[in-house]
Amino acid sequence: MTSPSFGDPWTADILTLFPDMFPGTMGHSLAGRALKDGLWALNVYNIRDFSKDKHNTVDNPPLGGGHGMVMRPDVTAAALDHALSSREQVVRPPLIYPSPRGRFLDQAYVKELSQTSGVVILCGRYEGIDQRVIDRYQLTEVSIGDYILSGGEQAAMVILDSVIRLLPGVMGKQIGHQQESFEAGLLEHDHYTQPRHWQDMNVPEVLSSGHHQQIEAWRRQNAEMRTRLQRPDLWDRYTEQHSGQNALKKRVKSIDKERDNN
Ligand code: SAM
Repeated sequence: MTSPSFGDPWTADILTLFPDMFPGTMGHSLAGRALKDGLWALNVYNIRDFSKDKHNTVDNPPLGGGHGMVMRPDVTAAALDHALSSREQVVRPPLIYPSPRGRFLDQAYVKELSQTSGVVILCGRYEGIDQRVIDRYQLTEVSIGDYILSGGEQAAMVILDSVIRLLPGVMGKQIGHQQESFEAGLLEHDHYTQPRHWQDMNVPEVLSSGHHQQIEAWRRQNAEMRTRLQRPDLWDRYTEQHSGQNALKKRVKSIDKERDNN
């Protein structure tokens, strides 16, 4: 992975057939404020501008037959070349092609991306892009889930949103995301706020005790319980990583006991 060159904000170059979709949701709230404050930068390129024929063709039917259209390699490559040559950074940023065939977007990869100089995201449409572009530019295919979107733009927004909130200064207090789901290999603990009594339901007493150590212990145990119940796959990985810890074994026993009592 590359290191950001100091002084430049983390920069996202988006290549799309629908430039008006951006900044879209990324122009609002946390990401929108950070964009205005120069904590990250956005360049949007219209792939159609790189078509050379008089009809501005960007796609053609698949060779070998079949339904749908495929984005042309010469046009998408020209757009990529332009975006890359417009960047001031010497080190090539990660080139991402959102794709249902790709590696899953997870918090570890999001963190990795937040430590680069930025990303170039090529948004697919139709049946996708010509394979030769993926091969020639060594695009990283990234999937946001096992379902089919109509275009890469929404996936690009998801990637951007998850990365931008990790950039320095965006969330204010850095502690904010260190306790979130996936950061320690666990889901996050339950949250409660005022009023303490609502519809015959109470908040766990320890949270009103003012005893920080006990609150921390309750939160950790609650996070472990949630992970075990709601994401057994994460829980298995977590217990494997902490298999030598007696404290964890004790907590697992107490989670089991609590579950048996309910
Ligand atoms: N023919 C492709 C397939 O079956 O794998 C689906 C093409 S989809 C209609 C058009 C574009 O949406 C893709 O090129 C990709 O950029 C984007 N896309 C669709 N689903 C996605 C997903 N789960 N994650 C990331 N991008 C996705």
